[in-house]
Amino acid sequence: MADEVAAVEKAGADWLHLDVMDGHFVPNLSMGPQLVKALRPRSKLPFDVHLMVAPVDSYIEAFAKAGADHIHIHVEAGPHTHRSLQHVRDHGVKAGVAICPATPPEALGEVLDLVDVILVMTVNPGFGGQKFLSSQLPKIRTLRKMADATGRDIRIGVDGGITPETAALATQAGADVLIAGTSVYGQADYAHAIDALRTGGAPRPA
Ligand code: ZN
Repeated sequence: MADEVAAVEKAGADWLHLDVMDGHFVPNLSMGPQLVKALRPRSKLPFDVHLMVAPVDSYIEAFAKAGADHIHIHVEAGPHTHRSLQHVRDHGVKAGVAICPATPPEALGEVLDLVDVILVMTVNPGFGGQKFLSSQLPKIRTLRKMADATGRDIRIGVDGGITPETAALATQAGADVLIAGTSVYGQADYAHAIDALRTGGAPRPA
């Protein structure tokens, strides 16, 4: 895994997105804080940790201590998103809130003052390799407006089904962080794959 992390770092990735799945909030299991901690000294990339975990509060400290630079929690993970985001901020890491396809953008309206990144799920979380849900594009546009209205610097990430084609749709709708799994790790040339996401598949201007 460390070799693969080094390979995407060398290929030009900006962040390393780590999907933490609990087998309860989402129907799959992935990694715990020990793995994040073991990887931390092997990479200079910011670690963008996506907690698909419910309840989440008792895990925030462990991932912050393991070396997360950003921690995303799900607005659907429990009734106290505001408190969970406060916990994340208390650990001095950037706070992200992730939102599933079925959840309307207004669900984030009362927590935007605590948020550095909004993570719009463009698949149902739990598995890699799923198809981009273009039904989420209006939500990205709405959240871009809501985020800009705060006057704060809030990034909008898209997570799920990102390819050069869907990356272009997402960025046109207002996203500025593209999370990719299959469309980088499923390709032979990681640098070429990352470049293709940045340019929407078009050749980079000379
Ligand atoms: Zn993710």
